[in-house]
Amino acid sequence: MAADKADIGNEDKLDVLKSTQTIIKTALDKLGYPEEVFELLKEPLRMMTVRIPVRMDNGTVKIFTGYRAQHNDAVGPTKGGVRFHPNVTEREVKALSIWMSLKCGIVDLPYGGGKGGIVCDPRTMSFRELENLSRGYVRAISQIVGPTKDIPAPDVFTNSQIMAWMMDEYSRIDEFNNPGFITGKPLVLGGSHGRESATAKGVTICIHEALKKKGIDIKGAKVVVQGFGNAGSYLAKFMHDAGACVIGISDAYGALYDPNGLDIDYLLDRRDSFGTVTKLFKNTITNKELLELECDILVPAAIENQITEENAHNIKAKIVVEAANGPTTLEATKILTERGILLVPDVLASAGGVTVSYFEWVQNNQGYYWSEEEVEEKLQKVMVKAFNNVYETAQKRKVDMRLAAYMVGVRKMAEAARFRGWV
Ligand code: GLU
Repeated sequence: MAADKADIGNEDKLDVLKSTQTIIKTALDKLGYPEEVFELLKEPLRMMTVRIPVRMDNGTVKIFTGYRAQHNDAVGPTKGGVRFHPNVTEREVKALSIWMSLKCGIVDLPYGGGKGGIVCDPRTMSFRELENLSRGYVRAISQIVGPTKDIPAPDVFTNSQIMAWMMDEYSRIDEFNNPGFITGKPLVLGGSHGRESATAKGVTICIHEALKKKGIDIKGAKVVVQGFGNAGSYLAKFMHDAGACVIGISDAYGALYDPNGLDIDYLLDRRDSFGTVTKLFKNTITNKELLELECDILVPAAIENQITEENAHNIKAKIVVEAANGPTTLEATKILTERGILLVPDVLASAGGVTVSYFEWVQNNQGYYWSEEEVEEKLQKVMVKAFNNVYETAQKRKVDMRLAAYMVGVRKMAEAARFRGWV
């Protein structure tokens, strides 16, 4: 009986929707909003569940479950990625859509948050099966998405090829070429320069700002990156190029450690499209050991609930910058903050991706495209401003960086909803 209770308690702590709602409530209370604003924002306004039949290569038909959550469109159309992963759940997609609303608020984009997910394992699927699944998903959700309604993008295990199939399917349904329906497209189909590396660029800008606050030089700073997917791999490269020493990286199968710095260019060369590289090595360390390495900067860039109250006391980094969505639990946030570790939360640190997605959408709408330098310069301005806004809010209101980020992120949405007369 006691064990059951403990299990439920622990599950609750790892329930990302519940913990998001807890911080939203605290943020709204601190800002003085009435209860009805929380009632409005605690769940997405719309949640669609679809079942997608896909003819597999062996001739059988498999039915996949997919979701699209639209958290709140008071500010503008909803925006957010689609993930393909075996562990996708309805509650996770809901939480992810709320985080997108917060991200858009923090970097001040004219969007609300949305998110999609399909329960599948793309690592075991052929190109043709993935194409059929991507097109089937768009057909199933086509009525609720569109360039002025809800704009999808890449997320875990989805990429520019998948965006291209989805854009093509939507354009067929809509009967005209519609690049602004989705972002993260290949350049030749109206993608933006800098979109692929944008999340990592945004994280890098946050790291530079955080290092300034802590008085640490990037040259020689020891960095550990958990996850070698889109965000993690680009980030390791940017850190290496900036003169930092990347001593640890990991993927879903293990972690690599070298106190003198790993050969990042070699690892990038050998990783597969799902970010797997450690399988090629014999001397690996565990994920747990990786997170607890002595370093200056720790970047969780993989999945949720990696730093919990179990390991938060053993984290030895001076700065933790969340490139993944939801890698640190609320209890762990408290422990890290009390220990004087500067935590840059996901909704701020990973907002570079959606920022350049917004740039892509603007370019699609105006039909005029920017150079890589222009995109970078604009991203730099947005991220520096957002970081300092959150940092100053944390100092002024004497709250941790996560709560400060939520306070900044939720405000515009709450105001827009009030002006519209919703609350
Ligand atoms: N999936 C990314 C995120 O979680 C990007 C979303 C977008 O570009 O719309 O922020």
